[in-house]
Parts: sequence; structure tokens; C-alpha cells
Amino acid sequence: MAVKHETGFTDLVKGLLEGFMPEKDPRLMFNNTVVLIEHGDDSVRVFTDDGRMLEADFDVATFSLGVLQQREVKFSPPLPPKKQLVIDMFGFCRFTHIYLQFPRSFWDETMYILRASKIRGHFSCWRNQNTLYSGSNILHLSLFGDDATWADRSTDDMVIQEVLNILQSLYPNVTIPKLSGFKVSRWNTDRLTRGAFSYWPTGFTDENMKYLQAPDGRLFFAGEHLDPVHYGFVHGAYRSVQRTAEDLVQCIENPSKCAWSSMTSDD
Ligand SMILES: Cc1cc2nc3c(=O)[nH]c(=O)nc-3n(C[C@H](O)[C@H](O)[C@H](O)COP(=O)(O)OP(=O)(O)OC[C@H]3O[C@@H](n4cnc5c(N)ncnc54)[C@H](O)[C@@H]3O)c2cc1C
Repeated sequence: MAVKHETGFTDLVKGLLEGFMPEKDPRLMFNNTVVLIEHGDDSVRVFTDDGRMLEADFDVATFSLGVLQQREVKFSPPLPPKKQLVIDMFGFCRFTHIYLQFPRSFWDETMYILRASKIRGHFSCWRNQNTLYSGSNILHLSLFGDDATWADRSTDDMVIQEVLNILQSLYPNVTIPKLSGFKVSRWNTDRLTRGAFSYWPTGFTDENMKYLQAPDGRLFFAGEHLDPVHYGFVHGAYRSVQRTAEDLVQCIENPSKCAWSSMTSDD
């Protein structure tokens, strides 16, 4: 079931910010890409791709699991091998959305249109956006796994041609009108996401999760992939950052009780 919310997640973020920091606070920086985090016994230094450096007592890194898996951000010293191992072991979904807009609708009026295929899940899940945005005449196709990778690595023309061929096979008696617009999400190759959301893979243990959550000295971590119950969801990210904030406050107030101070680069 899909639901529509006029402002998306914006209101949620603004609500969380309210009473904590004004929206125009200069400490709130947008569109800065972190490339390096140096962390030592006394401080953490964060470097951005435009040459800026920010120094703090502690840092909470909330990059997606995909960004950590693809080593998009360098850490100095590097993350402990056991930490990097569990980062690499946890699962991160490959997922691509394709939006096709037509001058008129020619498809079924149901919210979902499902296609059966010999290859499991292959171009199977189409959503009729007219059921959410009346008159938009947008069809929304979700691709998973290898199909998502294929789309991300192909040109727009290749993707659209293939998708239209499949759509024609779904509606063989229809003359499909020319597209009026399209959008292919490219989260799997976007250096700020490197995938969509996490999943708990077979064989990954609770102990592994503890290492995934663990800070490395003054460097803390938060994000959806660190919530052992609601990973993959926004409320998982929220719960994770709450827990990390509590751990961090405890470390600041009483370093000897810092739950993870024992994790060293030899782990
Ligand atoms: C198609 C799709 C549908 C989804 N549907 C739902 C849903 O219906 N319900 C639900 O609860 N969840 C849904 N999710 C999952 C949800 O979006 C994630 O669980 C959530 O966004 C995770 O939040 P996060 O803060 O952990 O990570 P992210 O949202 O990935 O935030 C990480 C942030 O770090 C930034 N960043 C990355 N690298 C750098 C860098 N080097 N320098 C600076 N900044 C950087 C990114 O730009 C991003 O803003 C969906 C996800 C996808 C892809």
C-alpha cells in the first residue's frame, strides 16, 4: 500500500530541528561532501571535498551502509578490520525506480500492476501513480538486485527502450503513446547513497550487530542499518541516532563508563 504525504519527510526533519537549532543556523551545512575523517585520542577532524576542515571532540557518522561499504569516505586511522568486516557483511539492497509519464493513461486502474516472469521479480512491480496523483499519468516501475544494477549501468535510452518493450508486452493491443517525461533513480551508483536500504543477511549474528553499532574511539555511528529491529526504515534511523546520542552523552559525562571504549584498532 502506498500513501501520499504532501511534504514528504520534510516536516518530520523540520519538526525534529524545532527547538534544537534555528533553520538558518550557520552550523547547519548543506551540500558539503565529506571525504576524510581523522580521529585521534583528543579530537576528530572532518574534511570536505571543497577543502574545508571541521574539528570537534566527537563525531557521529551517519553515512549509509552502502557509502561505508564502497569506502566513499576515508578514515584515518582506518576502521578496525573487524568493524570493516561487519560493515561489508551486512546487506544493502540494490533498488532502482523508473518513472514514466505519458500524455494519457492506457493501463489498468489498480494501484499495482504485477507482471509474471520466468525470472523471479524481473520487471514485475509497476505502480499506477494516478491512484495517488490523479491525472499525473505516471507509471512507476521498481527494479531490484541485478535488474537495478543493470539500469544504473545503462544509459537512459537503453533503460527506456527496454522498459517500453516490456510494457508493450504487457499491453499488446495498445499503441503506446510517446513518453512526455521519465526519471531513472540511480541510487546504486550515487556516491551519497550507494544503494537503497539495508537488510539482515543470513548468518549475521547479534554479536556482529554490536560491532556494526560500535564507535571507534571518538568516532560514533548512526543510521537505519544500525537498528537491530527496524533496519531499512526511517524510524530505524531515528531509533539508532537516539541510542547513539545517549551512548555519546554517557561517554562525555563519564568516559570510564563509555560502553565501547575497549574497541581498539587491533579488534
Ligand atoms: C526507494 C526507497 C523507498 C523507501 N521507502 C521507505 C518507506 O516507505 N518507509 C521507510 O520507513 N523507509 C523507506 N525507505 C528507507 C529509508 O529511506 C531509509 O531507511 C532512511 O533514509 C535511512 O536514513 P539514514 O539517515 O540512515 O540514511 P540516509 O537517508 O541514506 O542519510 C544519509 C545521509 O548522508 C549523506 N551522505 C552520504 N555520504 C556523504 C558524504 N560523503 N558527505 C556528506 N554527506 C553524505 C547523504 O546525502 C544522506 O543525506 C526507502 C528507501 C528507498 C531507497
